[in-house]
Amino acid sequence: MSIHHRPIAERIEWLLDLAHRHTAEFRSPEAYLARELYLAKHPTAIIVLKCMDGRINIPVATGTPPGIIQPIRNLGGIFDLGWPHLGEVLAESVYRMVANGRRVLIFITYHFSRGDAKRGCAGFAYDAAAALEHCRVIKRQAEHIFGAGHDTVYPILCGYETDEDALLLHGFGDEVLDLASLAPTDAPFLSHRLSPLYPDMPVQVQQDLLPLLEGNLKWIAQVRNTCRLLDIEHREWMICLGRGFDFLHTPNLALIIGPYSPDLADPIRKAAGIIEANMHTGRIPDDGFLLLASVPYEQIGMDRSRAELKSHFLADFAADVIRVEFPELAERMHIQKAVLSWRSRALELLG
Ligand SMILES: [Zn+2]
Repeated sequence: MSIHHRPIAERIEWLLDLAHRHTAEFRSPEAYLARELYLAKHPTAIIVLKCMDGRINIPVATGTPPGIIQPIRNLGGIFDLGWPHLGEVLAESVYRMVANGRRVLIFITYHFSRGDAKRGCAGFAYDAAAALEHCRVIKRQAEHIFGAGHDTVYPILCGYETDEDALLLHGFGDEVLDLASLAPTDAPFLSHRLSPLYPDMPVQVQQDLLPLLEGNLKWIAQVRNTCRLLDIEHREWMICLGRGFDFLHTPNLALIIGPYSPDLADPIRKAAGIIEANMHTGRIPDDGFLLLASVPYEQIGMDRSRAELKSHFLADFAADVIRVEFPELAERMHIQKAVLSWRSRALELLG
């Protein structure tokens, strides 16, 4: 029996084991050294704004070691850099990277499916053009904050085609580089394609963008050689609030809500509605669902203590929204609060 049909207690146990295995892998000497080596060779920091859809796994699709790319996820992939918390997280990351002599590449992404529009982004009612337009707005906001000269922070618009995990880079004018249209043997010529696409991109940033594109060519070739199940139905049985859910990169398992939108109740309501529908249609067992709050901390002491309070707040806030608006579902709610050590990615459960 697949894990998605097991009783809730077993599913939660499975999830915590998954988190534990992810941590063990992340802090192994081999993985640590792979990250250090990668950063020494490619100093440009990479931040990705993306939809919470579990199919969008940029480290895997680009062959980048885990922990290099910083994901910022939200339900529907909808962001506004004017949101106070989001703006602060982004500005703080950029400031820290730049102070260490690193430039920053920000991928502003949308996703769609070539095979069937309905496999696209529900957050934009499957309208890829509307999602791209939203990305353009975010890019202008990024340029407003970090400058339009792009010398230090370079925002790029990027599509993600989920049937083949192909990246589409939107560049200068209406230029688009669709990685699905190239073969792995085109890798040596990629650098010639980048210059006209991004004429003002610093050389170092170009050199650090290239391995992602080469990795994507290899990955697309691999995807084409495997039989992929494309029409995976909704079977999410958990709502995750906060950050640090890299270990959950499994399609249609969790609804991940970043702590960014000032109207936090709105994505929680949408997520609870999806879970309830999943139970009613029998796609998941109706014996329970998990509400998991995870807040990362970098330093012990004050920083970790504040993360604890944040985790309690997020979980309690979401639980209240669900109790008021989905009373029947609330009876089957299992709440788990946690903090996450950002260095080791260890999930520490709070009592
Ligand atoms: Zn989406």
